[in-house]
Amino acid sequence: MLDYIVVGLGLAGISVCDTLERNGKTFHVVSDASQQASQVAGGLYNPVILKRFTMAWKAGGLMEAVRPFYQQQEEKLGVTLDHPLRVLRRFASIEEQNTWFEAADRPGLERFLSTKILPNQNPALDAPFGFGEVMHTGRIDTALLIKAYRAYLEQNDLLTFENFDFGALHLLEQHVSYKGIEAKRIVFACGFGLKQNPYFNYLPLNGTKGELLIIKAPDFKEESVIKSSVFTIPWGEDLYLVGATYKWKDKTNTPTEESKNELLDKLSTFLKCDFEVVDHVAGIRPTVSDRRPLVGQHPKHQNLYVLNGFGSRGVLIAPYASQQLFSFIEDGQALDPEIDIQRFTKKHFRN
Ligand SMILES: Cc1cc2nc3c(=O)[nH]c(=O)nc-3n(C[C@H](O)[C@H](O)[C@H](O)COP(=O)(O)OP(=O)(O)OC[C@H]3O[C@@H](n4cnc5c(N)ncnc54)[C@H](O)[C@@H]3O)c2cc1C
Repeated sequence: MLDYIVVGLGLAGISVCDTLERNGKTFHVVSDASQQASQVAGGLYNPVILKRFTMAWKAGGLMEAVRPFYQQQEEKLGVTLDHPLRVLRRFASIEEQNTWFEAADRPGLERFLSTKILPNQNPALDAPFGFGEVMHTGRIDTALLIKAYRAYLEQNDLLTFENFDFGALHLLEQHVSYKGIEAKRIVFACGFGLKQNPYFNYLPLNGTKGELLIIKAPDFKEESVIKSSVFTIPWGEDLYLVGATYKWKDKTNTPTEESKNELLDKLSTFLKCDFEVVDHVAGIRPTVSDRRPLVGQHPKHQNLYVLNGFGSRGVLIAPYASQQLFSFIEDGQALDPEIDIQRFTKKHFRN
């Protein structure tokens, strides 16, 4: 009898596995590659919403946990995942510079927003009003994290790589059983795949498609993340990620010409050097109607749990939300009501 089955091996599933392992719990993972959000993510951890110069939800606190969590994964997996990078917000006008200064004085933000205006020194960039610097930011190589974590699980015989077959899941009095695996509990961490889950598909997960280009630009020579109408994120060897788009209707992982053109149009407003597009990727962010994670226990089936709804900030939210879920299950601590799926229980009983 295992303690847990974990379904899904994106940022949510990995953070569950890590929390279980650190606490001496046994588990087995079932995952496929039907969802791609963690695989294609830009991987930025940045607490500031750069459109409005406000703090993202709980971001100050979440930032405390982010580096220690990914450092632990680096040590366990023997790979480099955390790349500290400063984020430079390109100003479009004097008014924006002023709004930035006002924001930099506000409690919480003053730790992250530098009060110096940085003049543009990169001839490949058009930025007459300069930049504001966000501090303590960086990028997690999420694709490498998934690859290395998968190899780690495979070496320890802890992964079945397949589409989860709900017909083979049996809910018993005190435990669950799936294709010969018996476990006390099962946690679904399936990202947008939640839509196919007959137990949790009542939850209001909308899904927002995002696309990114990877460009090769030998003359760009930029070491910081540049945020203008799109981000450019240094990827090493003259490669840069450019993104991302936000689309609410199309729920496929297929890159589109329309989004490619949108990204190229926006990029052309500030990048002035030559480049070529070498790749184009897409994934569905697991976004929720009220923009909060989905964490907790099924309203009727006490052995079923969910960890989802990380939206566009999975890197920051995963360590916090998985710890919340673990403390709730194992120590009986109440979940933060903002993330507890109990807020949608009425909806479940209406269906
Ligand atoms: C273009 C783009 C850029 C982004 N950039 C950033 C960024 O810079 N910083 C940031 O923090 N976040 C970013 N995000 C958001 C981030 O990717 C998500 O918040 C996060 O990856 C969600 O993780 P998850 O594990 O919940 O879901 P997913 O990554 O979708 O993982 C779910 C896993 O479950 C598996 N699965 C699903 N259904 C089943 C099933 N039935 N059977 C078996 N396995 C199943 C999937 O195949 C997948 O492996 C970005 C997202 C996109 C699309």
